[in-house]
Amino acid sequence: MQPEKLTITPLAAFQDNYIWCLTKPDSDALVVVDPGDADVVLQFARHTQKQLSSILITHHHWDHTDGIAALKQLWPHARVIGPAYEAERINSLTQTVHDGDIVELSEFGVRFKVLHIPGHTLGHIAYYTALLNQTPALFCGDTLFSAGCGRLFEGSPEQMHQSLQRLSVLPDETHIYCAHEYTLANLAFARAVEPDNQAVIEHVTKCQQLRDNQLPTLPSKLATEKAINPFLRCHLPDLQRKYASTTEQAAFTALRAEKDRFKS
Ligand SMILES: [Zn+2]
Repeated sequence: MQPEKLTITPLAAFQDNYIWCLTKPDSDALVVVDPGDADVVLQFARHTQKQLSSILITHHHWDHTDGIAALKQLWPHARVIGPAYEAERINSLTQTVHDGDIVELSEFGVRFKVLHIPGHTLGHIAYYTALLNQTPALFCGDTLFSAGCGRLFEGSPEQMHQSLQRLSVLPDETHIYCAHEYTLANLAFARAVEPDNQAVIEHVTKCQQLRDNQLPTLPSKLATEKAINPFLRCHLPDLQRKYASTTEQAAFTALRAEKDRFKS
């Protein structure tokens, strides 16, 4: 008999955040990633009749962590797992993790590997598993977005570039669960950077249709990101020439600075 599949549901919060929820039909457990808002999680738990068992945190920003306290009041036994490097800035962590640690979600029989990917914040981590419903999956917070990457609030362009390079060697079929619906805005920039990139043009049409129907454009796939995301394409000579750069890092730094100034 096939094991029951996990369901991965994005809950929309605030302007454009997603809180990813993991559930399984044969279990009453609920795992959430980056619950910035407790109310939407509470509604989801009531609706699906689940009990919160674990919270995974990628970094300390309020829109990823503000719901923790209220959720812990309702479910005091829920585990709260987050980056050791940011432990002082995140309330109620019950387990701090470092690069390379394994997080075991025994409620679902899933194991995540922790990847330290600084840049957006200095302690930012991602959770990677080679097997989530037979597919690799990455919960990467505000580091890799579809067609973009996170702003550098704390880290350097070198750190972010290295972090993205680390993610880009994961299997091509990896599903990318990032924490914001920024895809269309990011694609506008990607199009300005690479006007002739057919994959970008096609992805705009696909994502516009999804958004017109109020559907998320996520998860993305790593293979798709390698084709459309300029921040994963700085090794290409055309892109380096555009930024008068002779190295991948220099092109990345110029690209990140241009994105900060970009108005679509
Ligand atoms: Zn953030």
